[in-house]
Amino acid sequence: MSRSNQPKSPDESGSPPGPFPVPDATLPFWRTDLHQLDTHRSTAELPQKCDVLIIGSGLSGAATAYHILDNNPSPPSMVILEARQACSGATARNGGHVKPDLYYRVPQYVRLYGKQAAADMALFEMNHVQAVKDLVEKESIDCDFVLTRAFDVILDPELAKKTKKEFDQLVSEGFPTIKDVWYAPAAAAQALTGVKDAQCAFSFTVASLWPYKLVTHLLSLAVKRGVNLQTHTPVTSVSETQDAHGYWLVTTPRGVIKAKKIIFATNGYTAGIVPQFREKIIPVRGICSRIAVPTGKEAPSLPFSYSVRHNDKGADYQITRPDGSIIVGGGRPAYWHKGNEWYNIHDDSQMIRPAVSYFNGLMQRTYRGWEDSGAAVDKIWTGILGYTNDLVPYAGAVPAKGGQFICAGFNGHGMPAILLTSKGIAKMIREGCAFEETGVPRPFKVTAARLQNPTNAIMDMVNY
Ligand SMILES: Cc1cc2nc3c(=O)[nH]c(=O)nc-3n(C[C@H](O)[C@H](O)[C@H](O)COP(=O)(O)OP(=O)(O)OC[C@H]3O[C@@H](n4cnc5c(N)ncnc54)[C@H](O)[C@@H]3O)c2cc1C
Repeated sequence: MSRSNQPKSPDESGSPPGPFPVPDATLPFWRTDLHQLDTHRSTAELPQKCDVLIIGSGLSGAATAYHILDNNPSPPSMVILEARQACSGATARNGGHVKPDLYYRVPQYVRLYGKQAAADMALFEMNHVQAVKDLVEKESIDCDFVLTRAFDVILDPELAKKTKKEFDQLVSEGFPTIKDVWYAPAAAAQALTGVKDAQCAFSFTVASLWPYKLVTHLLSLAVKRGVNLQTHTPVTSVSETQDAHGYWLVTTPRGVIKAKKIIFATNGYTAGIVPQFREKIIPVRGICSRIAVPTGKEAPSLPFSYSVRHNDKGADYQITRPDGSIIVGGGRPAYWHKGNEWYNIHDDSQMIRPAVSYFNGLMQRTYRGWEDSGAAVDKIWTGILGYTNDLVPYAGAVPAKGGQFICAGFNGHGMPAILLTSKGIAKMIREGCAFEETGVPRPFKVTAARLQNPTNAIMDMVNY
């Protein structure tokens, strides 16, 4: 083995190790009903080699495996390595909200990437609601799928004015996703949503679901079709070059596995094993909770899904579950100014301390008629999001690393972006096609120029 082929430990590289998933992560509501594959290992020993190695078993990894196998009479040999339990990363810790952005960030994307690319991105997200619904129905996935409308409610009068002005501009231009967005001025917004002090609201089609159940179902389909799933098997490094037979050498504490192709579905932890993504995909800690009304108490029903925008720095986003409980995440007003609680943090075994008390009384503070509901937090947890330096995911072939692919960095917004991105990656793997033939929006493509871009738009956005 030549020196350059030797797996390089992150500790030897001179830079600090990680980020890697930590043990003892907080317990999200979604992981209170575990699938039989949760700690699965298809074989006692790690296979020695495979055609396709997927690292990470969240939605990105599971959906990529699904698309590689779907209608494929001769699939490649595939292994999925997962550092912790199956689906124990962000996907199992999110808000369960499949909420495309049809208007809100569109003006920013028009400025950054031009009208056509912004339209492609918004349509791509919009198409996810139907794509997820189709998948759930096709594979009979029991994941509490709900098709509904979101109400984005704005509390800040200045932000309400600015957003309405931008919305009107998109309407006048006939922006393709704007036809599904409906504007409600203050009185209608307050009447329809029950949000106190709503200045206005925007409503559009979204979905909600139990993300862990969706993903573990996809993993079980993959395992049934011969994929070797190895949980509790962290990858610690990948060789810098391929060996003489075209294999990448992937090191884990359980041994080395050789792979012709690798897909990094490692989200906020990507830089731990793919150094090119250091400072490009940054781990960001987020927080989410489940709130329930105690038996014997009542509160007005909230039949839609909601985001309550306090200002341009943050929103609380929430879904109503079929069991009546509420999943609500966000809480940024409580901690966004304290970067050491969330920025470049990969530890989801700890809470975001200033945010914990924020969720207590949130429903009472926000919604009319909930004041005496007794609604209380019954679960609260953290998770690690993968934010990117330019706020767009990284997808496609890793430059100068033939056979390596990435599907990561979804900026806290993966549910309306991952399913079809992973389908595109699977097409590249199956057909050897170019990124441009995948239908994934152009700005998602990982390029050498993006990897050299020193911008950090996360900090610009936060401005603390
Ligand atoms: C609190 C919170 C709330 C959110 N709410 C929403 C929401 O409502 N709607 C929405 O669209 N998005 C939301 N998100 C973001 C969304 O969850 C993510 O975009 C999405 O789940 C990312 O999926 P993924 O498969 O790429 O990553 P993950 O689900 O994080 O999966 C990555 C997997 O890779 C594994 N891994 C990493 N490194 C290694 C390694 N070295 N070796 C082996 N395995 C490794 C991890 O253990 C993990 O299981 C939220 C995220 C959080 C944390």
